[in-house]
Amino acid sequence: MRALVLDAEWNPQSSYDLTDDEKQRHRAMDSSSIWQNPELRVEERERPEPAEDEVLVRVKYAGICGSDVAMTETDDDGYMHYSAYTQLPNVIGHEFSGEVVETGDDADLFEAGDPVTAEVTDYCGRCQMCRQGFHGHCENFEQIGFTLDGAFAEYVTVPEKILWGVSELSQQYEDEDELYRAAATIEPSTITFYGLFGRAEGIWPGDYHVYHGVGPIGLTGMNVSRAAGAGKVIAFEPSDERREIAHDLGFEHVYNPIEVDPVEMVNEVTGGEGADVHVETSGAVGATYPVIEDTLAERANVVHISNAGSDPDLALRKYQGSSAQLYGSEGHTGQQVYPRTIRLMASGQLDNLPIITSTFDLENADEAVAQARKRVDGKVLIEM
Ligand SMILES: [Zn+2]
Ligand SMILES: [Zn+2]
Repeated sequence: MRALVLDAEWNPQSSYDLTDDEKQRHRAMDSSSIWQNPELRVEERERPEPAEDEVLVRVKYAGICGSDVAMTETDDDGYMHYSAYTQLPNVIGHEFSGEVVETGDDADLFEAGDPVTAEVTDYCGRCQMCRQGFHGHCENFEQIGFTLDGAFAEYVTVPEKILWGVSELSQQYEDEDELYRAAATIEPSTITFYGLFGRAEGIWPGDYHVYHGVGPIGLTGMNVSRAAGAGKVIAFEPSDERREIAHDLGFEHVYNPIEVDPVEMVNEVTGGEGADVHVETSGAVGATYPVIEDTLAERANVVHISNAGSDPDLALRKYQGSSAQLYGSEGHTGQQVYPRTIRLMASGQLDNLPIITSTFDLENADEAVAQARKRVDGKVLIEM
């Protein structure tokens, strides 16, 4: 089968303390301190066989994530921008849809032909994090497209416990191609869904939501907020193209934070009440947190989702003075995040198709990544 493989040189920086596990397996916990000169190539690989508890999926579509882009970008010394976990060489890609081809001997939740998508993190279920319900922070995790072979390939094997059926999307998308395109956008939608409902507490219908940064996560997030009954959804985004996509989705309060004063704008749109929900999806935290802190409604929820390179100065007194809370949110694993997101999509309340702005063939996957690197698209998909 054809697959898009990421490789790089194992060259740990002298200041970095390698663990035994990192040394033995060439698995980097902090990729940006270890991998140099990353390179993508489309290559021929053996079709994988499902293990006992796995399912073999023929991939239809897979979306390019900010993390895929960051794995191909480097600093001046050639070190990868992406700072989290990777084991290379590896087939990347983790936001995907496909059709079940074959199931392992102990996997009986799915049948050949079922349309599916998957969570990213394979958790052990036995460690302290898993036993507390935080499967996304499993101490023995593996991740599809990061440490396990991913979905920019004709086939991928997935543990059945993190695979989800999406046949109910046919209520909304009669055309099979549309169904698989929509299903490939479930994963990015679950990132904000988990932040809003798995982590933050007490978000109400009618709340005013503000998105700081509307790349693919912010755009799918705005859709989730609207589907969940937000009173208004406000967004700040410097890219003209991305603001245009948000407008096309029907959002009217979308602004360039460089051209307008975001604090004044939130006050104007909310009638001076401030925003109840603040979602940080830009990473430019030095600019966004002062705005968030000056626009907190009473009992506001701040949901921190982006991977920022540095930390902002927090005005803690303002959180006290507004009974506000700041929630860290990472990933989407476990609980009921996937099935609920799929239900929202099946009901027609969450439609991400207009967010998909570019589609490439697997053979041209490197062009797809180059397109995503421009940071002007809603979502770039690869069709297998
Ligand atoms: Zn992703
Ligand atoms: Zn675990």
